[in-house]
Amino acid sequence: MSDQHQNLAIIGHVDHGKSTLVGRLLYETGSVPEHVIEQHKEEAEEKGKGGFEFAYVMDNLAEERERGVTIDIAHQEFSTDAYDFTIVDCPGHRDFVKNMITGASQADNAVLVVAADDGVAPQTQEHVFLARTLGIDELIIGINKMDLVDYKESSYKEVVSEVTDLLNQVQFNTDDAEFIPISAFEGDNIAEESENTDWYDGNILLEALNNLPAPEPPTDAPLRLPIQDVYTISGIGTVPVGRIETGVMNVGDNVSFQPSDVGGEVKTIEMHHEEVPKAEPGDNVGFNVRGIGKDDIRRGDVCGPADDPPSVAETFQAQVVVMQHPSVITAGYTPVFHAHTAQVACTIESIDKKMDPSSGEVAEENPDFIQSGDAAVVTIRPQKPLSIEPSSEIPELGSFAIRDMGQTIAAGKVLSVDGK
Ligand code: GDP
Repeated sequence: MSDQHQNLAIIGHVDHGKSTLVGRLLYETGSVPEHVIEQHKEEAEEKGKGGFEFAYVMDNLAEERERGVTIDIAHQEFSTDAYDFTIVDCPGHRDFVKNMITGASQADNAVLVVAADDGVAPQTQEHVFLARTLGIDELIIGINKMDLVDYKESSYKEVVSEVTDLLNQVQFNTDDAEFIPISAFEGDNIAEESENTDWYDGNILLEALNNLPAPEPPTDAPLRLPIQDVYTISGIGTVPVGRIETGVMNVGDNVSFQPSDVGGEVKTIEMHHEEVPKAEPGDNVGFNVRGIGKDDIRRGDVCGPADDPPSVAETFQAQVVVMQHPSVITAGYTPVFHAHTAQVACTIESIDKKMDPSSGEVAEENPDFIQSGDAAVVTIRPQKPLSIEPSSEIPELGSFAIRDMGQTIAAGKVLSVDGK
């Protein structure tokens, strides 16, 4: 165990091997609980499965996925010398992309899994784009299923070059990306150097994870705690729950919920079923505030200090990148915005500037429309009150995704907020 913590996302196209890699990481780091192994041992022996210990892990993950268990899957943990990792989101989540956007699963760094036999695929693009927009610091790219391409260096290089092009396209600094040829299934270059890739002399995956830069905990920023749910618990009362994105919450603090615009004094804070005097960024907490009833607050509210309350936007200006949209986007378009735990229909009131994606310079003032691949500065008017912050001040509360027709069509960062 180590005391440094990292939230890690595993991203990539469906079937490229994300679950298998999670299973492999848990297995190689000894993070599979004994009872899980016991549970599957007899069955695996009966079936005469080879390499059955790894199969236990995979069976367990698959089973959780079938049952739609999200809590367990969302909190897989393993450790290296330097860090305790929490896998903040896992394949199998029905709404993986949406979860990537909400603060609840904000990752510091990510592993992108790309199958060597398939290369860059639609969700590879989507996830890389989101990782870039939502501020993932470093990307480790596992070129997976190397066993299926006979561990050929030429196949590896081909996929590396495809991914590099993609990273350049979204302006992800390739200095912050590390490529590793792996097989999640066979275990190549995960915990040990593989004999099958003697042409490769870089880090193996666990080394690369161990060498990631330490995330800086945003404890200096004001408290921002997006509310995920509100419960009524007998003996306590109203208990909002959520993850602290920035700042610190202490018992006795005066807090404000926005945009519901109510507040009070924090009476108790609970974490992992225990009362605690204070909670910090990354902590999932339930708490109780004097005088607040269940109907006073809701999911999508943000809790902050009463003397530095969360901003509420009448309008906000943002930089967006359009990822995929079947037609053009014009002023007046009103899709659903997902920001932290809030989902609010917002109108794109004006398209102020179109940017040249390669240089970042203004390409056109007040364009009539934008379309897939375009980056633009737009002014947005939420149709219901929305708490959101400028990305330059509180990045954790300054990004959003735009969803329509079941897809993420754009993502963006808040430049400024015009409040009430
Ligand atoms: P996910 O959808 O990205 O989570 O992909 P899965 O982990 O479910 O893997 C999809 C399929 O690819 C499964 O049948 C896996 O057994 C297989 N797979 C995953 N990794 C590897 C690998 O390294 N080599 C081979 N040959 N198959 C793999």
